[in-house]
Amino acid sequence: MVLVRVVWMMVMFLSGCVMASAQTKAPESATLALRLPPAGAPAEANGTVQFIGTATVLIRYQGFTILTDPNFLHKGDHVHLGYGITSERLTNPALNLEQLPPIDLVVLSHLHEDHFDRLVQEKLDKNIPIITTKSAAKKLKDMGFQRTFGLATWDRIDIEKGEARLRITAAPGRHGKAGMQALLPSVMGSVLDFGPNAAAPAYRMYVSGDTLIYDDLKAIPQRFPGVDLALLHLGGTRILGVFKVTMDGKDGVTLMQIVQPKKAIPIHYDDYDVFKSPLSDFAREAKAAGLDQQVVYLAHGDTYTFGPAEH
Ligand SMILES: [Zn+2]
Repeated sequence: MVLVRVVWMMVMFLSGCVMASAQTKAPESATLALRLPPAGAPAEANGTVQFIGTATVLIRYQGFTILTDPNFLHKGDHVHLGYGITSERLTNPALNLEQLPPIDLVVLSHLHEDHFDRLVQEKLDKNIPIITTKSAAKKLKDMGFQRTFGLATWDRIDIEKGEARLRITAAPGRHGKAGMQALLPSVMGSVLDFGPNAAAPAYRMYVSGDTLIYDDLKAIPQRFPGVDLALLHLGGTRILGVFKVTMDGKDGVTLMQIVQPKKAIPIHYDDYDVFKSPLSDFAREAKAAGLDQQVVYLAHGDTYTFGPAEH
């Protein structure tokens, strides 16, 4: 059965190569808008990033509370990744869904169950705004989520919450080699620019999403120089043990060299049995590249605190 799947995926890979080369140029990017009710209490001066597990992170800054790629399954639970492929969770989330503070919005890199699981599909408040890819936005709407915002690469959404401002821009991401894309959901990275002037943000955060290294990523530092913090989805995920669909440790360091963030936090590295590149791979490569001073390691539940950037 597995052999049949491998052969079939090979066929899809080749047909996908043909489709990829026939793609036309992307249209101009769009700007969406979202207005949230103002916060009751004044915001803390410092921001925080709490690592919950997989690619699930709670970001709090300037009055915004943002949840990324919500996955609240537990050790021993399974996710379905399509085509009959499943994966077992090896860790527990640091928080349960019910323990979350009130969330302003979710940023979702793509619609795979290790990023938006069945529990979340069922229990997450259907009115929470979800910023994601166009295809995921459509599917989430079909699941009953009322406020989904689909972005193509470089599209952005300007978010207001009282006096606070946040701009989120969709960055390139690709969950597999060119031809594999026919099999995998579209993926976006995200750039979060906090503050009233998005061109000179108070703090600039980049979330890689489940991507491999490819040329389009080089446009990120051209459009968004001075990233203060990058969240890197690692794990070197292998589908059927063969196809690499997320960055391994070495790729994570390459992405740091491309984007040049002041700080980077590796996430998505040990939570599922399809993750084949442990965090130690990344740590070794970061050290060898002389980048270990820029890396912040968070265990599940740990919080990184940051002040406004000094630009
Ligand atoms: Zn993933």
